[in-house]
Amino acid sequence: MKKRFTQVALVTCTALCASMLPTAAVPMSAEAATKNVVVCIDPGHGGSNLGAQYNDLQEKDLTLQIANAMYAELTKYEGVTVVMTRTTDAELSLSDRAQIAKNNQADFLYSIHLNASSEHNLYGSEVWTSGFGEMYAKGQAFGKIETAELSSQIGVYTRGVKTKLSEASNMSRDYYGVISAATSLNVPSVIIEHCYMDEAHDTGFYMEEGDLEAFGKADATAVAKYFGLKSTALGVDYSTYVKEEVAAPALPVAQDLTPPETAAITVTQYDAATRTAKLHVLAKDSGSPIIYYSYSTDSGASWSVLCGWTANGEGDISVVLPENSNGTITLAVYNNYDLCTISNTVTVY
Ligand SMILES: [Zn+2]
Repeated sequence: MKKRFTQVALVTCTALCASMLPTAAVPMSAEAATKNVVVCIDPGHGGSNLGAQYNDLQEKDLTLQIANAMYAELTKYEGVTVVMTRTTDAELSLSDRAQIAKNNQADFLYSIHLNASSEHNLYGSEVWTSGFGEMYAKGQAFGKIETAELSSQIGVYTRGVKTKLSEASNMSRDYYGVISAATSLNVPSVIIEHCYMDEAHDTGFYMEEGDLEAFGKADATAVAKYFGLKSTALGVDYSTYVKEEVAAPALPVAQDLTPPETAAITVTQYDAATRTAKLHVLAKDSGSPIIYYSYSTDSGASWSVLCGWTANGEGDISVVLPENSNGTITLAVYNNYDLCTISNTVTVY
């Protein structure tokens, strides 16, 4: 039997308190004055909209399981009302999802997803948010907490918190429908892409018993930190948690449309016995962080899997040249919009 999720109009704590206060009321405690938070969880896809499909699993089922776990965990906190856009395998439009959040006076809409890429080579978590004003500021602030939770609690690589505007609309609205719809209703929203279903780095994060529950708990913890919630049942108190404040931008924040500006390598050392080259790498992109590199040891005929890159601007890496290498190394660096720049080629031997 499924839990009964509310989609009814909510009477907030503050509204009740205000209507019951006598005129000469004693001052309310800080706790009592705290506004009740309304959180809307949106399990992505559903019905004939299956989402990504890999390893005999459908994204629409996984998102519902993550959402159920997120719901169960969040309802252990005080001062929060949690609603869901769907609790069954129902088909909902993107604007329906945003409207449910609005109808429940939600303070935030969290759309739950798993990712896949056309080349099956990407891995990690990412959060998408609106590019506009306060919606951007709130989405960014939450996204930083969320990706940090997924990294620290589960070990998912962080791809970042990003915006994407619709080029078809001349960048006048958000590209992703659920975010665009929520923004037009003035509801802060994010799409949480927990990990990739189609890449070996990430398959260990969602296919085993308990994995999806762990995602849901991490999501709930991020929400609790963002809103400063506490839970007697869980024995945690985030009321003093300090989140990074993000300023609302004056202009819409668009996606990065250009690849990294700099990708340059020099050989600093080569050990012939182990066929290991040490390289110094300059990798810069003024528009977005660089998150991966891959290398070729045959002048670009073939490339390694993507390796994580967290250094800021420059760093050092080691490459082992296989027996069939022609003695050269070329690097490709990728920003977090997956745009790539190829470096110079160095001759190692
Ligand atoms: Zn999805």
